[in-house]
Amino acid sequence: MESKQYITVMDKHGIQISKCTKKRAHQLITRQCADWIGWNTLKLRYNREDKKIFRQVAIERDKYTCYICGKVMHHDHPELTADHIIARAKGGSDLPENQACCCKPCNEQKGKMDLKTFLVTKNTQVNF
Ligand SMILES: [Zn+2]
Repeated sequence: MESKQYITVMDKHGIQISKCTKKRAHQLITRQCADWIGWNTLKLRYNREDKKIFRQVAIERDKYTCYICGKVMHHDHPELTADHIIARAKGGSDLPENQACCCKPCNEQKGKMDLKTFLVTKNTQVNF
């Protein structure tokens, strides 16, 4: 009898937190969220709190300037967000190098598009 194979997921401290399917495990690896530490065991590289820090690191690195329209924002500006350069749905990681400071209007306009697609779409909408 063959049972469905599950992968053990450990947090960054090595504490077992859950199990996931092989498919999910491969997504975590692709998105640079986790590493294999055994045949059937994954260890996450970061936790939820780290993700908030990654976002902050990206925003500060970009000096609170929207990477799409160039708007400079105050550190508590309500429109201050970070955008995933490669969308998470497309395998983009949460690491700071995949995030960029972005104002809310640009972020919402861009949605799940990757930057290239977005810029092409944006340019074709401009009427000269
Ligand atoms: Zn913007």
